[in-house]
Amino acid sequence: MTSSFPPYSTGSRYLVEEIRELKHSKNAAILAHYYMTPELQLHTSAGGIADVVGDSLALSRAATTIDAEVIVFCGVAFMAETAKILNPQCTVLLPDRAAGCSLASSITAQDVQALRKRHPNTPVMAYINTYAETKAESDICCTSRNAIAVAASFPQDTLIFVPDLYMGRNISVPIAQATGKKLILWNGVCEVHEQFTAARLAATGDSFPDAEILVHWEVPSDAAAIALARHKGIIGSTSDIIRYVEESTARQFILGSECDLGAALRGMYADREFITPCVYCPHMKRITLHNTLEALQAVGSIAQPAFEVILEPDIQQRAFLPLQRMIEIG
Ligand code: SF4
Repeated sequence: MTSSFPPYSTGSRYLVEEIRELKHSKNAAILAHYYMTPELQLHTSAGGIADVVGDSLALSRAATTIDAEVIVFCGVAFMAETAKILNPQCTVLLPDRAAGCSLASSITAQDVQALRKRHPNTPVMAYINTYAETKAESDICCTSRNAIAVAASFPQDTLIFVPDLYMGRNISVPIAQATGKKLILWNGVCEVHEQFTAARLAATGDSFPDAEILVHWEVPSDAAAIALARHKGIIGSTSDIIRYVEESTARQFILGSECDLGAALRGMYADREFITPCVYCPHMKRITLHNTLEALQAVGSIAQPAFEVILEPDIQQRAFLPLQRMIEIG
């Protein structure tokens, strides 16, 4: 779905025009996550810069089919790494190489090896929000959208799920209901979604008692449970949230997720009201129109390595398999 946002400022419009020209001349495509600022996630067909806008799964799929020599990833490092692993022929650039993620940083390859020793013959399911070295040690990847289907694909009764503790607790309920399987969890958290505490959601809910609630899987499970006991709504992935809004007749929603997903939703559903107890991801916000332009300008110059994602060949190859298995499941 294409979003519409308020018009660019004059300064931003200048940057947008330059980016659009350079994308064409350098045979580049821009993939943008829903947590980017509105000016980065406006689609080219609406005068913006993004060729594909989506959640992690949509962007992973797009990385395998995109018709371009260069991908500029408006997202964070683990996402750009995923694009590189899935499309090794492509040059993948991240406008700010320091755009990290608290979840991805919470676990290493050595941690996964130690988990395997402690729980032999137990498959490891890695959330896509992990670095390539963690994926390379895992059996399969998943996103918040396909985690239940991925878990169901294993014959074992118990799986290791890394690294998100809260998402693990939240998805373990439908996974147990659908498959009878148990999850062994790691203790990573998303520094953005962990801020949606029960008190924060309740304070917003008190002001908007009739609003429906949209909560991401990464939100603490106690907060999500209390919010969903007070309001009609959903806990799910970004795409589950978008689909829920599409199908709901409600006019007002409280969003328990990254603030700019609210901007994306407002762009898609201008007739609805989205109340966002705003928490921004500081890593996502490192990406700007300005450094996106710089990354494109660097293509083919000595400045390119400052933006380019380059992985150790062994890690890149081993990380491909768990991602490919995930994409085959859907
Ligand atoms: S929102 Fe959370 S999970 Fe996503 S990049 Fe930021 S810190 Fe990582």
